[in-house]
Amino acid sequence: MANLEQGLAALKQYFGYESFRPLQEKTITYLLEGKDVLTLMPTGGGKSICFQIPAIILEGTCIVVSPLIALMQDQVEGLVANGIRAAFLNSSQTPSEQQDIETRLLQRQLDLLYISPEKIISPGFIPVLNTIKINLFAIDEAHCISMWGHDFRQEYTKLGFIREQFPGIPILALTASAEKVTRLDITRQLGIPEEHILVASFDRPNIYLEVRPGRKRMEQITDFVHHNRKQSGIVYCLSRKSTEQVAARLQAAGYKAAFYHAGMSARDRASTQSDFIADRTQIICATIAFGMGIDKSNVRWIIHYNLPKNMEGYYQEIGRAGRDGLPAQALLFYTVADLQMLRDMLTQQESNQAELQLAKLERIQQYAESLVCRRRVLLNYFGEPFHRDCDNCDTCKQPHSGIDGTIIAQKALSALYRTGGRESNSLLIHILRGSRKKEVLEKNYHELKSYGCGAEHSYEAWQFYLVQLRNLGYLESPPDQKNMVLINDASKRVLFSGEKVKLIRFSGSGRSTETPVKISRGPSQTQRDLSELYDLLIELRRSLAVKAGIPPYSLLSDADIQSMIEQLPVSTYELHSVSGMSQKKIADYGNFFRQAILSFVSDRPLLAKKKSKALTFAYLEKGLSLEEIASLRQLKLVTIEDHAAQLYTDGFPLDIRPFLPLDAEVVIREAIHKAGGVKAPLKTLHDLLFGQYSYLAIKLTLAKMERERMQI
Ligand code: ADP
Ligand code: ZN
Repeated sequence: MANLEQGLAALKQYFGYESFRPLQEKTITYLLEGKDVLTLMPTGGGKSICFQIPAIILEGTCIVVSPLIALMQDQVEGLVANGIRAAFLNSSQTPSEQQDIETRLLQRQLDLLYISPEKIISPGFIPVLNTIKINLFAIDEAHCISMWGHDFRQEYTKLGFIREQFPGIPILALTASAEKVTRLDITRQLGIPEEHILVASFDRPNIYLEVRPGRKRMEQITDFVHHNRKQSGIVYCLSRKSTEQVAARLQAAGYKAAFYHAGMSARDRASTQSDFIADRTQIICATIAFGMGIDKSNVRWIIHYNLPKNMEGYYQEIGRAGRDGLPAQALLFYTVADLQMLRDMLTQQESNQAELQLAKLERIQQYAESLVCRRRVLLNYFGEPFHRDCDNCDTCKQPHSGIDGTIIAQKALSALYRTGGRESNSLLIHILRGSRKKEVLEKNYHELKSYGCGAEHSYEAWQFYLVQLRNLGYLESPPDQKNMVLINDASKRVLFSGEKVKLIRFSGSGRSTETPVKISRGPSQTQRDLSELYDLLIELRRSLAVKAGIPPYSLLSDADIQSMIEQLPVSTYELHSVSGMSQKKIADYGNFFRQAILSFVSDRPLLAKKKSKALTFAYLEKGLSLEEIASLRQLKLVTIEDHAAQLYTDGFPLDIRPFLPLDAEVVIREAIHKAGGVKAPLKTLHDLLFGQYSYLAIKLTLAKMERERMQI
């Protein structure tokens, strides 16, 4: 039976990663125990590793059901580039292509088969499934199974047959979005026990959240893009026309920008998308249609030119930035005009959903107007308790002066608690203010102990405070009943455990509108060198990706390039510790990167000094002698000899025998013992050996003894 250790070895070999993320480890452990699991992770959380690793280490094939053809293709290309046996089957292929894949499947040549839901439920394919050994079923985008999810697909509801027809083979359902109802629906339909739902935090801590007033948007955008040169980004606009206008303005300012909307031909859309994926286009100005089903991990920023309709859409869109985990930015422009337009649009629509949609709009308005940490507002909205300031949003960076709002909170929450824990927003305020309104009296609320306890604050002030309490997670309100407020666990902590609450004081006026100022210090020479090298490696990645016919981010992610910049591998040996460098990628591309870094570093005195030992090793790897290296690098021979000894101590795979024959080692070891151990001065040892052995041989013997002590 395979175990987690084998999983880790495969993670290193095939993906070049050192460790699992916590929920990946948990999911894989469950699957290896044969359990069914539903795993929820945000975009970029690393869902695919959860089934790819078991697929590789378990005997047989993993069947991956995936609804988006483009994504399927992308993932399979990525896997093949890492030397993994994967293929896909869907309607975009000719019958003979499909036949080829089936043959490979039957001949046990596939570790992973990606398949569309239509195909897996087709009667012709079931006998094939029955013939092969399957180690796991992975259902990607599992929320599609539920009518409650936002992307329902009829074929998904038939997937229940898997549990019936293939008892004993574990099922893994994966999704990035599923509130409670959808979650339960997924587990019920696929026969996954409810206690096997694993949920990762939905926070995307690497995304900086910022909201700015939408004055002179275009100028602000050009300025923003100027400060984020060469970084991929998306500007989301509400109308087709504004996508075209913004793109034109950016082009005029000299940027590689393009627009994308549903009014374009399918061909134009496809080519715009692939230019973006291949880093030929830097910026896309798009309506919300863009970004679905692309996996580009190095989108560095998202701008919302207009206010989105709801938090769900907003979070999904900003989630397309920073999937590689590196810092990313989300900038939202907020104007009252946008708000009014959306409100009008929703009010006019003939739908029983209008009420719900308006309630959702109100929540994003509150997010945009929030004076407290935006991440708190966001995560609490999605039902994830988050009770600290994130330090990575505009309000955290420029906090508004807070007051101790504990008493205010206690008053509001205790009044709500005494009503039974659930009441409408306005009625709660009337109770607090001691109003004689009809509804108050009808419900006998004037007899509550809290009646009138908050009369010192105006109606508007209470409204302001209740919104904050809700944004901070101390109150809840059901999405379909915007005016109701509910007590939750956090409210109880304030009422009964003395939790302190910080609030922004009500001042009667709106928020201040200044934008945060970024202080920038001039970069040091080393930083400048590294950023030049970064650009060079990005360009190298692009040209290698073009040759290989894969997207650049799929060859190596931005995070992997960053890891390279941190480690500066100049030798093949060092490439193994670069994140994302699987064995196959080292074999296919390692030399290109290593060479580029080697020649760059050799030319830059500061970097060369930093990497001095490693450079010696790189030249040794190439077969140069110590003397040759010394003269090439214009360093003393003794320095190069010291490098060799230190490299050996550090665990570099250096063949020391040419410098230290076995018989010499025996004699030198004896001398070291006689001289009282490894601390003896070199000169003493050299003299003790009558100068018959070189200093290098002595140093290498000492290095070897040090390695033995450290048990390398
Ligand atoms: P999701 O499908 O959940 O959106 P992906 O599977 O695309 O996320 O993974 C997001 C990024 O994180 C990818 O660049 C992936 O290579 C990287 N990644 C996944 N697991 C790990 C890990 N254990 N260590 C380092 N990077 C990882
Ligand atoms: Zn914050």
